Amino acid sequence: MYVEQATREQLQQWHKELTTNHQSFVAGGLNLDLTRGKPSASQLSLANDLDGALKGNYIADDGTDTRNYGGIDGLPGMKALAADILGVKAEDILVGGNSSLTLMYFSALFGWQFGFTGPTSAWRNEDKVKFLCPVPGYDRHFAICEELGIEMVNVPMDDNGPDMDVVESLVRNDQSIKGIWCVPKYSNPTGCIYSAETVERLANLGTIAADNFRIFYDNAYVVHDLTDDPAELPNIMDYCRKAGTEDSVLQFGSTSKVTFAGAGVAFMAASAVNLKAMKNHLGIATIGPDKVNQLRHLRVISNVQQLRAHMIKHAELLKPRFACVLDHLQKNFADSDLGSWSTPEGGYFISFDTRPGLASEVVKLAAEAGVKLTPAGATFPYGKDPQDCNIRLAPSFPTVEDIDKAMAVFCNSVKLASVSQRLQAG
Ligand code: PMP
Repeated sequence: MYVEQATREQLQQWHKELTTNHQSFVAGGLNLDLTRGKPSASQLSLANDLDGALKGNYIADDGTDTRNYGGIDGLPGMKALAADILGVKAEDILVGGNSSLTLMYFSALFGWQFGFTGPTSAWRNEDKVKFLCPVPGYDRHFAICEELGIEMVNVPMDDNGPDMDVVESLVRNDQSIKGIWCVPKYSNPTGCIYSAETVERLANLGTIAADNFRIFYDNAYVVHDLTDDPAELPNIMDYCRKAGTEDSVLQFGSTSKVTFAGAGVAFMAASAVNLKAMKNHLGIATIGPDKVNQLRHLRVISNVQQLRAHMIKHAELLKPRFACVLDHLQKNFADSDLGSWSTPEGGYFISFDTRPGLASEVVKLAAEAGVKLTPAGATFPYGKDPQDCNIRLAPSFPTVEDIDKAMAVFCNSVKLASVSQRLQAG
């Protein structure tokens, strides 16, 4: 279907058919949800061995009684595993509670309030504080900036990551830019993997940015491959060491989508300077993280080999769900001017771009027909997609049968919105 080339009669005919489909979906009373990137119950069950894994033995290999207070930066075993996941040394790791988002929030808060290198480096001292936000991106990153009153600046993304020409020129010319959000592997929502050139240029930002600039490098999907032969993400710290910019990057990860989304283990990697600041301030908020949870994780997944084997089981559950979404998109839109989409090889999302100005209408139509989609605009700072075209599809949670039904509604909604827009344009 090409709406640009269609005659008015064709458009009117399509409009009639699509409206009939829409009405039958509305009458069908569906109640489906393609919004958040939550693991399905079957995925969570893959980690059910966590329950009872300790068999009453709470003592870690290094002798720590995990039931007691302490260990602000985590058990040595968990630091070693996290270091292997993020490609750093164990001494560069701080293990947190269950949520990497909390570590990101605290990092931003501490950067704002106290500074990573003492009070003079605190962002709150400055007239204006800005973060670069590659778009489309992750709404919860943007929410952290909004909460702290940090101004967000959109930066376009392509298949290699953020447009680094734009990033470098902004950073070079504006010292009020104090950070950038990055999801370098299977980016949320486009699914791209940052190229070696992008990673190297990010690592070099520390040479042109303000001293208190930090890259928030959220590697939430670092082991979440859907293919047998996954692409490798180049190691940003290798480039940082070459450029002498180790202090400019804070890396984050967690097992939220490896074990239990609500009871996993989160961690961050950073330079000695940054970790010292984190530990000082985190140590005021807590006497230590949940080491019992860290230990039971180590009992179930003790090394990266076991982790990779575990992630293959996740991929087996996720693959048919992604395939179902992509199959619908391919069949409905491959030969059309109605939209474009990403074909990710991992992560949790598929990003769909409608014709400009239609994302909100598509989300509204789908909702009428009983399919909840991520709100239009959610993938942009302040919830404002300047083109009103991006929609994030999250197929991990529903069953394949439900995704199949939801995608039929989604595709019809995209077509109906597109045809209606063309008709209105006259
Ligand atoms: N970062 C990204 C990019 C995510 O997509 C998500 C979950 N949707 C998170 C972080 C949340 O991680 P956690 O559960 O460790 O807080």
